[in-house]
Amino acid sequence: MSQVLQELIDTLGDDCVLTGDDVHSRSAGIWRRDTVQAKAIIRPRSTQEVSTALRICHAHDQKVVAHGGLTGLVESAITQPDEVALSLERMNQIEELNSVDRTMVVQSGVVLQAVQDAADAQDLMFPLDLGGRGSCTIGGNISTNAGGNRVVRYGMTRDMVLGLEAVLADGTVVSSMNRMIKNNAGYDLKQLFIGTEGTLGIVTRAVLRLREKPLNQVTVLVASDAFVKLPGFLKHMDQALGGTLSAFEAMWNRFYTQVTTAPARSQPPISQEYPYYVLLEAMGCDEGVVEAALTEAYEKDLICDAVLAQSEGQRQQLWGMRDDVEQCFRDGPTIAFDVSLRISDMEGYVAEVESRLAEAFERCDVYIFGHMGDGNLHLVIGVGAYSKEIRRKVESSIYEPLRAIGGSVSAEHGVGLEKKPYLDISRSTVEIELMRTLKRALDPKGILNPGKIFDLAPGGAEAAA
Ligand code: ZN
Repeated sequence: MSQVLQELIDTLGDDCVLTGDDVHSRSAGIWRRDTVQAKAIIRPRSTQEVSTALRICHAHDQKVVAHGGLTGLVESAITQPDEVALSLERMNQIEELNSVDRTMVVQSGVVLQAVQDAADAQDLMFPLDLGGRGSCTIGGNISTNAGGNRVVRYGMTRDMVLGLEAVLADGTVVSSMNRMIKNNAGYDLKQLFIGTEGTLGIVTRAVLRLREKPLNQVTVLVASDAFVKLPGFLKHMDQALGGTLSAFEAMWNRFYTQVTTAPARSQPPISQEYPYYVLLEAMGCDEGVVEAALTEAYEKDLICDAVLAQSEGQRQQLWGMRDDVEQCFRDGPTIAFDVSLRISDMEGYVAEVESRLAEAFERCDVYIFGHMGDGNLHLVIGVGAYSKEIRRKVESSIYEPLRAIGGSVSAEHGVGLEKKPYLDISRSTVEIELMRTLKRALDPKGILNPGKIFDLAPGGAEAAA
């Protein structure tokens, strides 16, 4: 056994350091078929133990990758055989909920749904919501600045974190557990650890901002006959609903048809003849107001048809249809994307992507849906086969058109290893160099989640420690 593992075991105890089959039998991620390849998995029970583990790893130049719920989609938590994973799974306590301050103090291994449920039990709400809610952890949400279904109203994870505690590469604990909404006393250091995919520090605890629970939720599915009408419909509803619009999810026909045709569990609530559909939701808005706004939209020819959920069961069914993304995977291998662009660029962008794909491949299944209210589209592409070369070709068809319109290769999933070759489409050389400067300042040996997002040295290979 290597010296670093022996020292970790001697200091933290056997049950804190898994090795051998206990490591290799674990899944590398809920979307993956492979298992964890790493020297060990460290499972600390406290911030102090995270600090101790990192201090030891730092002294031995041991590379460390933080693990949350492993629901990521961009290979941001993948480990190499010579790396060590540090799982926050045993730091899963909700430490405090204050309904007057509307804050919750959590350890970073708490599952998102547990945070939502605890807030709900006090008639409050933690607005972050996404399909992986039952598996993803708040630490993972923070490290990727997760978005999800309600960003149009409540913002991303960044907007819901008041303070946090993180451990730096050398074991230093940075406690920045601010509990106030406003605090401009110098640099807002928590931002260094939000959305940086565990490359600058490991988040151990956080202070979350809670909101009042809305009195009701009104959910509607509409159909439209032209993309050009959707931005006007979004603007109309946002205005008419007085700031209560909390989701605006667009679905292109191919996606809608796929999730409403057997073996998918949903039946089509509106006929499959329209080119576009939108699932929208208002929180805390009178149903009559929503109905009146829809009638007006219909009269203005912004929409062709609408179905309003009449019960909680129907509401769940509509979301169940939208969330049944796995249906896109049923007809062969696919590659999933997550891009951001201005709403005004969307129609032209999709046309450009489709023409590039049609030129490159004989068969092409293009499923498009996403958080249109946030300018975020998900594309799932199938071309009948899969290889590294096919992947590269599909990736460049999706990513290259973003360059000219100032779009982003990652709206909410992060960069990890998967999008690293395309970071320069969305970030300038100066921006990437500043990211490297921050990385070198906080983690000079480059032991934290090495090789993710960008390479430490321009041109590829990691800089020597
Ligand atoms: Zn999404």
